[in-house]
Amino acid sequence: MPQTSTPRILALANQKGGVGKTTTAINLGTALAAVGESVLIVDLDPQGNASTGLGVMRRPQQRSTYHVLMGEAELTDVIVSSGIPRLDCAPSTMDLLGAELELSEISRKTYRLADAIQRLEANPIARRYSYILADCPPSLNLLTINALSAADAILVPLQCEFFALEGLSQLLKTVDRVKGSLNPKLSVQGVVLTMFDRRNSLSEQVAQDVRSVLGDKVYQTVIPRNVRVSEAPSHGKPVLLYDHECAGSQAYIRLASEVIRRERDLRAA
Ligand code: ADP
Ligand code: MG
Repeated sequence: MPQTSTPRILALANQKGGVGKTTTAINLGTALAAVGESVLIVDLDPQGNASTGLGVMRRPQQRSTYHVLMGEAELTDVIVSSGIPRLDCAPSTMDLLGAELELSEISRKTYRLADAIQRLEANPIARRYSYILADCPPSLNLLTINALSAADAILVPLQCEFFALEGLSQLLKTVDRVKGSLNPKLSVQGVVLTMFDRRNSLSEQVAQDVRSVLGDKVYQTVIPRNVRVSEAPSHGKPVLLYDHECAGSQAYIRLASEVIRRERDLRAA
């Protein structure tokens, strides 16, 4: 089994909403678990789409990543199984909406997630994960900063649309700032082009532009726009379980092997 002692922590971040962060967290996580990795998805978005998309029920009194960040619970208290082997989720609740303000008043406000993950790793009876994927909200707020401060690397989903590159420079500047002040180990795992539409020449143009700017930081794998991908969450299932054969599922399987390859290269370096 490709188990490692310390988990690789990847933050799925982009301050734009609707670019495929959550879809990528769910389906990359599922594809990694399918090849034997042990995966935890940490839902940091108050909307909780990663939790519901994995079929994890959100209940009013439930403790969530909010309580972990506020120091009222440990990750082990909130982690639930997705029902998929080797794939767990630390769900979010709407409480997270208030976290930004509340966090700003407590100590180590940017390291709350990093500290919680460290305590999880130090817990001898906690499950060991080889990948922790943090699904960020569509903002560069303290929740996203917590993910970037905890992460080994950021994975950026970028939608193949006209303004794709707009905002990316701001995101990469934030990455540099976090690297400079909060988390020197932070790197860019890669940029994944999402919702690629073959019939739309704009998609191809955007993909070319992004590759010419970012070079091999962009994964070879492109996630196509695929109706099965958008249907799957309403069934509380990753698309890989909803329709294993569809183009979206196959793309996420290829993305997972690229991510694993990059991790191996990084470790060997
Ligand atoms: P984000 O987390 O960045 O806000 P989501 O992953 O929630 O973005 O995706 C936004 C919307 O686009 C969702 O309704 C999702 O189902 C849909 N979507 C994401 N990826 C695809 C895809 N490859 N094909 C079709 N629809 C997609
Ligand atoms: Mg999302």
